[in-house]
Amino acid sequence: MPNIVIINRFFNDYINTISAIITLVTIALITIITIVAYTLERRISKSSPLYQRAFVHLVEGLVLGGSMVMLLQVYRILSNGASINHAWLYAIAQLTILLYSMYLIRNKVTLLINILMPFMYYTSMNIQRLDSKHLPLFIISYIFLVGIVIYIYKQTDRLQNSEWKYLGMQTLFGVAWWLLLWVDHSFPIYEIINLVVVFLIYMTVIRFCARKIQDTMLNYDNLRVRVNYDELTGIRNRANLDKTATELFDTYSHEDKVPLSIAMFDIDHFKGFNDQYGHSTGDEVLKHVAHTMEREMFLTDTKGQLFRFGGEEFIIVLRGKDPTQCVPIVTDLRNTLVNTPLILNGQRLDISISFGISQLKDSDTDFEDLFNRVDKYLYESKNAGRNRLTVEGQTYDFDNMKS
Ligand code: GH3
Ligand code: MG
Ligand code: MG
Repeated sequence: MPNIVIINRFFNDYINTISAIITLVTIALITIITIVAYTLERRISKSSPLYQRAFVHLVEGLVLGGSMVMLLQVYRILSNGASINHAWLYAIAQLTILLYSMYLIRNKVTLLINILMPFMYYTSMNIQRLDSKHLPLFIISYIFLVGIVIYIYKQTDRLQNSEWKYLGMQTLFGVAWWLLLWVDHSFPIYEIINLVVVFLIYMTVIRFCARKIQDTMLNYDNLRVRVNYDELTGIRNRANLDKTATELFDTYSHEDKVPLSIAMFDIDHFKGFNDQYGHSTGDEVLKHVAHTMEREMFLTDTKGQLFRFGGEEFIIVLRGKDPTQCVPIVTDLRNTLVNTPLILNGQRLDISISFGISQLKDSDTDFEDLFNRVDKYLYESKNAGRNRLTVEGQTYDFDNMKS
C-alpha cells in the first residue's frame, strides 16, 4: 500500500466538514451524557430503593440510546441520505460514545446497550448473512467484544488508574468492533489498523474534553458548597440563610394556616473558651455544637434546618411549627447538647446555650422583623442569667422549666 494513498484516504475520510460537525456533535452528546449522569447519580446511592436506582439507570440508558440515534440522524442529514458505507468517522464517534459511557455510567443498562449494539448496527440483523461464510467470524468477534465489554464493566476503576491497561482495552474494544463491521462491509483488512489508530486518537481528544467538562462540574459543585456552607462547621451559612429567608417569607407570609417559627441560640460565655483554652478550642466547641445539633435533628427526624448565623450564634428554621410545638423540640436538642459534653485533651468542656423562639406574624413586613424579635428574646434569655429559653417574650429556665 503506497503511503501516498493512505495519506490521501486519511484526508478524504477524516479532514472534512462532515467530520468536523460529527466531532462537535460527539462532544455535545458526551457533555449531555456527563451532565445527566452527574446530576442523577448524585441523587442515588447503593442504599436507595431499587425502583429509584432502576429509574435513574433507565434514564441514563435512554440518554445513551438517544445519543446513538441522534448521531445517526445527524450523519444521515450530513451525508444527504447517502449510503452509510465508509462512514468511518461516524462509526468511530459511535464507538467513542459507547466506550465513554462504560466508564462514566457503570450500570447494567449501559452494559446491555454495549452488548446489544452490534445487532442494531445496520445489516447485522440481516438474516441472509447468517448463511454466509463470515458467520463463524461474526460469532467469534462478537464473543470477543462481549468479553472485553464485560471486562471493562468489571474493571473500570483499575483501568482508569492505569493508562496502559486502559489503552490496551480500548485497542481490543476497537479491534473487536472493526472485525464485526468488517464482516458486514468487507473493507480492506489493513483498514482495521488504520481505524483503530484513528479511534485511539479520537477517543483521546474526546476524553480530554470530557475530563474538562467533569472538572468544570466538580469545581462548580465545590463552589456551590463553599458559597452555601460554613467552612468551619460544615452547616448552612449566613448567605444560605439570607436566600432561604426570602423564599420562606414569600411562602409563609401568605400562608394563614401553616405556621413558621425560628429558634435562635447562642453559646453562653463562649469567649471564655477562647480566652482560657485558645482559639482552636473555641473552634472545636463551635463544631461540636453544630454537629451535635445537626445529628440530633437527623436522628429524631426533626424537620428543622440549622444555620450558622455568625460567630457562635445559630438559627433553626422550623417549618409548620408554632412556638408551643417548638418548645419540646428545642428543649430536647438543648438537653442532648448538655448531656454530650466535649472532651478535649482529657478535659471536659461543659457547654450551655440560650435560646429565643418566635413565629412569623402577619404584621411582619419582611424576615428581618422576625430576626429582630427572636434576637431580642435571645437577649432576654441572656439577661435573665443565660441557659434559658424565651418564647414570644416568656422566659424559662432550662434547669427548672418554669417561667
Ligand atoms: P454570652 O454568654 O453573652 O453570649 O457571652 P459570649 O462570650 O459567648 O459572647 P461574645 O459575643 O462576647 O463572644 C463571642 C466570641 O466568639 C467573640 C469572638 O471572638 C468569638 N468568635 C466568633 N467567631 C469565632 C470562630 O469562628 N471561632 C472562634 N474560636 N471564636 C469565634
Ligand atoms: Mg455567646
Ligand atoms: Mg454572640
